[in-house]
Amino acid sequence: MANRLKNKQHIVLIGGGLAGLSAAEWLLRQELPPKVTIVESSDRLGGVIETVSQGEWLIERSADSFLSVRPEGIELVERLGITKELISINPEARRALIWSSQKGGESGSLLPVPRGFRLLAPGRIIPFLRSNILSCSGRLRVAGERFIPRRSHKDLDESLESFVVRRLGQEAFDKLVQPLVSGIWTADPKKLSMAAACPEFLKMEQEWGSLTKGEKKRAAQANGTCDSSGARYGQFVSFKRGMQTLIDALEARLRNAGVLVVQDHVRSLQRDSSEWQVVLGNQSIRANGVVLGVPASTAATMVSTVSPNLSAELKKIEFSGAAVVSLGFDRRDVSHALQAAGMIIPKVAGKRILAASFSSSKFPGRAPSGAVLIRTFIGGALDMSITSLTDEQVIEKVLVDLRTTIGLHGSPSIVQVDRWHRSMPQYNLGHVERIKKIRQAEAKLPSFGLAGSAYEGVGIPQVILSGQTAAARVIK
Ligand SMILES: Cc1cc2nc3c(=O)[nH]c(=O)nc-3n(C[C@H](O)[C@H](O)[C@H](O)COP(=O)(O)OP(=O)(O)OC[C@H]3O[C@@H](n4cnc5c(N)ncnc54)[C@H](O)[C@@H]3O)c2cc1C
Repeated sequence: MANRLKNKQHIVLIGGGLAGLSAAEWLLRQELPPKVTIVESSDRLGGVIETVSQGEWLIERSADSFLSVRPEGIELVERLGITKELISINPEARRALIWSSQKGGESGSLLPVPRGFRLLAPGRIIPFLRSNILSCSGRLRVAGERFIPRRSHKDLDESLESFVVRRLGQEAFDKLVQPLVSGIWTADPKKLSMAAACPEFLKMEQEWGSLTKGEKKRAAQANGTCDSSGARYGQFVSFKRGMQTLIDALEARLRNAGVLVVQDHVRSLQRDSSEWQVVLGNQSIRANGVVLGVPASTAATMVSTVSPNLSAELKKIEFSGAAVVSLGFDRRDVSHALQAAGMIIPKVAGKRILAASFSSSKFPGRAPSGAVLIRTFIGGALDMSITSLTDEQVIEKVLVDLRTTIGLHGSPSIVQVDRWHRSMPQYNLGHVERIKKIRQAEAKLPSFGLAGSAYEGVGIPQVILSGQTAAARVIK
């Protein structure tokens, strides 16, 4: 009987990004699915994920791939019947390059991340000792990591910078880990919480007493070797026609199943004794349950009347912004071989860009023949001033850095600037505790769920999971 009642329920999902769409897809898979409405303020679904085509160029406005070893993304792709559209990173591009220069000087070179080094863990010491990224003393400091004692105050949250300097030394942090991590989190490493962002490496320290030992063990268990470097590029996938394939397939599945999409801006949520009221511009929608798949700061405003306590905690989550500048060039205008997934630039190098993805080396079908597509990232928590620059100024800064790093000597044939203002949640110190409080306050609201990248992971698989978990909370 309880289940029969549930199919008469009306669930409203606020925000049609990946989190909201994943919540809807989960609801439709239940034995007796409820009526589902998505309210999205913009004129398209997908949130930050969008692929645009300009002739033969295929440009990702934000995410360009996702991790396939976590099940949530791949399982969703299988359910949507788009597995044959998946592509993985070209084998010859499965490595990252790091800009290495002397004391921020103009000249320098792009060197591969040493084999076996994963984000902040050196799995193999010999390739590290052979690499010229660090000075001799910097390399020896890393080699001695296994002799650094465990931290005794293991329950106190520690910043990424403090953790890495303590275990690997200042030079390895400045020249290797800071750029690797800033490409993922666009965060201030002095504030980024190890417990929230990199719990796996904290566990390694506690379990094995050393990242070097821990990474060796992990790699041996995973595939018997410790040979990859930087990110695990072999484990990232995209789609032949870009990430938009995922959004289009999700949208088609939902619309075919009768999900209603309302284009409007949700202002607030109200609750009477038995129902929710979703307040829009000129109307309100009644619902038995609601999932908020909007950024945490927007969710804070929406719940300010129904739960001031939850609203206050949500407001404490900070966001940074960045711009993605995609540029297409004639292949002959770039002297570097571009045989990598991309390059990362240490803050100490004094350049403006954080990283660049060599999109046309990474995936087929991103640029016309004889041309290359390069996506650069600029901004982040340590460079919020880009918001005050015009697009032309941002492009000029990017071109200056590309000239000195990859030997660019021509003008772009296409340019696209995508600005992501306050779109990157910052998992700052205390984040894990804050999320506990948020989840406690959330549980006090009936048939209510929060989803999205602000809580328990920013990557695509984690965001899919957050939508599914919030949906399950709403109809439990
Ligand atoms: C530049 C960039 C690059 C990235 N690269 C990668 C990558 O390569 N791999 C990876 O795994 N992840 C990547 N990510 C992260 C991943 O893409 C995001 O975490 C994820 O897509 C966020 O989805 P979401 O649904 O939580 O939020 P969003 O996509 O922000 O969706 C929220 C939705 O809510 C809507 N909304 C907001 N306010 C209201 C309102 N008042 N009423 C109604 N609707 C509203 C918005 O319009 C939006 O559609 C990247 C993110 C960015 C920004």
